[in-house]
Amino acid sequence: MTAGVTIRADDADPEPAWHGPLIDRFGRRFTYLRVSVTERCHLRCGYCRSAGDQGTDAQALAPAQSDRLLAVFRGLGARHVRFTGGEPLLSASLNGRIAHARALGFARVSLTTNGHLLSRKAAGLAAAGLHDVNVSLDSLDPARFARITGGGDLRRVLAGLDAARRVLARVKLNVVLLRDHNLSEWPDLVAFAITHGYDIRFIEAMPLGEAGAATVARHHVDTAAVYAEIAQRYRLRPLAPAPDSGPARRFAERDSGIEIGFISPLSQKFCASCNRLRLTSRGRLVYCLGHREGLDLRAALIQGLDDASLAALIRRQVARDKPREHEFGSGTHAVLVRMMAIGG
Ligand code: SAM
Repeated sequence: MTAGVTIRADDADPEPAWHGPLIDRFGRRFTYLRVSVTERCHLRCGYCRSAGDQGTDAQALAPAQSDRLLAVFRGLGARHVRFTGGEPLLSASLNGRIAHARALGFARVSLTTNGHLLSRKAAGLAAAGLHDVNVSLDSLDPARFARITGGGDLRRVLAGLDAARRVLARVKLNVVLLRDHNLSEWPDLVAFAITHGYDIRFIEAMPLGEAGAATVARHHVDTAAVYAEIAQRYRLRPLAPAPDSGPARRFAERDSGIEIGFISPLSQKFCASCNRLRLTSRGRLVYCLGHREGLDLRAALIQGLDDASLAALIRRQVARDKPREHEFGSGTHAVLVRMMAIGG
């Protein structure tokens, strides 16, 4: 044998001792992190943002701070990250964050967007390493779309979708169902998704912030009824819950292969299988959309905590404070959080 160097397993860079899964007192493991990169958005969807609620990035984390927290969550076992907002495509640092997430080894890097800037940004997002995108699309009628979104331009979203599907493996439509606005449109939306090969999710509005609470009171739709109608018209095959992903009940439409999903936080609680945490653009870790509790990680960064101490803090607080379930349906849920600040 030549005088070479034998590399033993224990010569490799050892994994830091603090690496390992993040599990709460109910045994839930957190593998999915949603990161809001900005509070700003050019739209004013009635269920998301109250009139006059501008959102500001004055106290936002710097991208380097957000990147560092992302690395800590990766060490704590997060495998899927979704960038959201506000409108994440308004953030100049988004592509860098996506590339950083890929370099950290996230198995899935996703984005949720209103799609208005997507036609010119899709190629750059794909080059940065983005895997998939969810685009909010509540209506295919230009006037109704503008009404629901407070001025949105449907043509731009459709152009964005078109650009995204050319460069990304998976494009999904997010539809918040609203009784007096777009409920009658589900057949058109499903047909549109099938024609273009987009997956589609129907979402119940949640009572988040004043805007969300008012919307739920007036426009709540039980997605089970919509599922029943879709199932009469299309051949649906149930799909298993997606690993590391959201709480949707998912079905494959047999002829086209697209996925049709339902997210029903009010009519069908899914908290027992919750695998997600949210990081706001201001660096607050939010355990649950339906509760006020959170952890100020920006303050922890300013205090100068090292990665091991940040991880220990997150572990301790999540285990102690992540609630068993949201309280949207309890009658006491009223207004807890603003969706635009947390990221959907
Ligand atoms: N601006 C981006 C967008 O429009 O997709 C990302 C942020 S937005 C807050 C993310 C998602 O949250 C959107 O699909 C939006 O429809 C959804 N959303 C906002 N407020 C909601 C509410 N009160 N209930 C249910 N979904 C809501």
